[in-house]
Amino acid sequence: MRLVDIGANLTHPSFREDLDEVLQRARSAGVETIVVTGTSVAESSKALELANARPETIHATAGVHPHHARECGSDTIPRLREIAKGERVVAIGECGLDFNRNYSPHPDQEKWFVAQLELGIELGKPLFLHSRDAHPRFADILGSFRPRKAVAHCFTGARAELRAYLDLGLYIGITGWICDERRGRPLLELVREIPRDRLLLETDAPYLTPRDLHPQPRARRNEPAFLPHIARAVARALGRPAEEVAAETAANARELFSLP
Ligand SMILES: [Zn+2]
Repeated sequence: MRLVDIGANLTHPSFREDLDEVLQRARSAGVETIVVTGTSVAESSKALELANARPETIHATAGVHPHHARECGSDTIPRLREIAKGERVVAIGECGLDFNRNYSPHPDQEKWFVAQLELGIELGKPLFLHSRDAHPRFADILGSFRPRKAVAHCFTGARAELRAYLDLGLYIGITGWICDERRGRPLLELVREIPRDRLLLETDAPYLTPRDLHPQPRARRNEPAFLPHIARAVARALGRPAEEVAAETAANARELFSLP
C-alpha cells in the first residue's frame, strides 16, 4: 500500500524526541509522502524547516488555525507569504472556522480566514481548510471566493455540510474519526457519497488516534504509520479493496497539492 498523509502535525512537541523513528515507521507502512500542517506562523515556519530537511518525504502547509486568529496582526499575512513562496509549501492553511471550541472570537476567525483565502488565491496555492461546527457560515464565506483547489480537512460533519462542500468543488479529508465506533458511525455511510476523485486520507497526528487500534500506542499518540489502518477502515465502508482506495487517494493528493 502506498499512501499520502495529507495532514500530520509533526511539529507537535510529542514528536521532538523520535521523529526519525516516526518517519521510518511511516515509510515501512507505505506512507511515502506526508504533508505537515502549519497551524500558526511559528509552526508553519517549523513545518517548512522539516520539509527542507526531508525533501524526499515531507511537504508543508503555511497558515493560521482559527484557534489562533486572535493572535494575528498586520505582519501575519506578509510572514505567511514569505514562508509559502517556495515549492515545499504546497497549500495555504490550515485556515477556516472553529465554532466548537471558540478559542478566538468569531469576527477574528472570519477576518483571518478571508485573509488566508485571499493569500492562497494570490499565490495560486490550494487551501487546506478547517471547519468545525461552523456550517453554513464557512460554506458562505468560501462560496464568495471559490478557490480553484481546496480540501476540507478532517471532515466530521453531516450530509448537508458534505453536499455543500462537494458543490464548492472541495476535496474531503477523512481521518481516524471514522474508526470511532460511536461518533464516527455517520461517516461510515457518508464516505460513500464522496466521489472517488475527491477523497483524501489523513491521520491528523498526534490527534485522533484510531479508537479501534489495538494495542493503543504509547500515550495514545497518533502517527502517520497508522494511515493504512484508516485506509482499510475507509475501504471497508466503501466495500472496495484497500489497495485501490490507497492508490486513488494518493493520486488525488498528488493532484491537489501538485506533488511530484
Ligand atoms: Zn484542523
